[in-house]
Amino acid sequence: MIFSKQLDKFLSLSAGIAFPLFRKALDKKFESDFKSFGVESTNVCNAKCSFCAYRLGYDGREKGFVNEDVLRHSLKLFKKHGGSNFSFISVLGDPLTDKDLISKIKIIAAEPQIKEINIYSNMIGLDRYDIDEFVTSGVTIISVSTCLGGREMYKKLFGVDEYERAMKNILTLLEANRKHGNPLKITLLIRMYYPVEKNYDREILEKIREYLPKNNIDVLPYDMWDDYNGKIKLPDIPEGGKFKHNLRDKKSPCYALYRKVQVLYNGDIAVCSCRVSPELVTDNIFKYEDLFDYWHGKSLAKIRNEWKKGNIPKICRGCNHYQTFDDMEKLALKEMFRAKIKKLFPR
Ligand code: SF4
Ligand code: SF4
Repeated sequence: MIFSKQLDKFLSLSAGIAFPLFRKALDKKFESDFKSFGVESTNVCNAKCSFCAYRLGYDGREKGFVNEDVLRHSLKLFKKHGGSNFSFISVLGDPLTDKDLISKIKIIAAEPQIKEINIYSNMIGLDRYDIDEFVTSGVTIISVSTCLGGREMYKKLFGVDEYERAMKNILTLLEANRKHGNPLKITLLIRMYYPVEKNYDREILEKIREYLPKNNIDVLPYDMWDDYNGKIKLPDIPEGGKFKHNLRDKKSPCYALYRKVQVLYNGDIAVCSCRVSPELVTDNIFKYEDLFDYWHGKSLAKIRNEWKKGNIPKICRGCNHYQTFDDMEKLALKEMFRAKIKKLFPR
């Protein structure tokens, strides 16, 4: 453990020092292709989390669910591009509010090229579905945002009195996954008062741990909370939590502009899946027959170039998810070094 931490530090330091030498090659690599692709399933949610801007009507768009035309066209283009990991997450919403979710997952999973389909959910709505059909639908990764701190804490943080239901659904999911030979990789993303260890509902935690290893129960670090551009205030986030620092110097374009193609539920393309804003919408998927044409096209180039000239979208100025493109490249370099070391010293 100590050795792996030291190795990690050493790799970060080496990547930082070597970065100027690799910069050009990394720029070329990141500009040449996107790393991730996703279609938003819906912008409807069944919770009103205190720490999320959904309850404040932050997403000004009409409420809706992705329709088959958007899904099939996006899938066709992604397939042509050679993609295999399909992100079906919502930006602000829960996929289990869509009564047709399973049939949509099946459409994606029917493509043999697709190896992974991931969703995020609070699991409140799972009991609307046949659990066996859900688990075997083709979805492969589920990240469950939840609170294991009892009914009162859940009500305060998730804004709805659904603790028992959410816990029952999570346990049903875990049991069904085991029954079917674990086709799903399930991770719980814990949102609770800090220190989390002291606030667990022990009874439910023990039941969950019968199915999930500790590594699959992930707690958001106390100082990484999103303030949604100042819309969320300190009393809205779990006790003991702090907001992630918002970097003021944003001269370099955000890493998000070089990472992902995010198709919204209505077919619009956004440059980022951390925020919803017309400022981040660059295009529409139906204008394209090839994702390469979008990635190397005028609309995306425009937002990147405007940023470099100092014309930064207002939503981005106040966003604490901002990270420099350089940081993303340094991280990639670090992982390259790690892979090389693993090859040289396999044990
Ligand atoms: S479940 Fe997710 S989208 Fe819904 S209110 Fe909570 S954090 Fe926001
Ligand atoms: S600054 Fe925030 S909203 Fe803007 S592109 Fe980056 S992550 Fe997205």
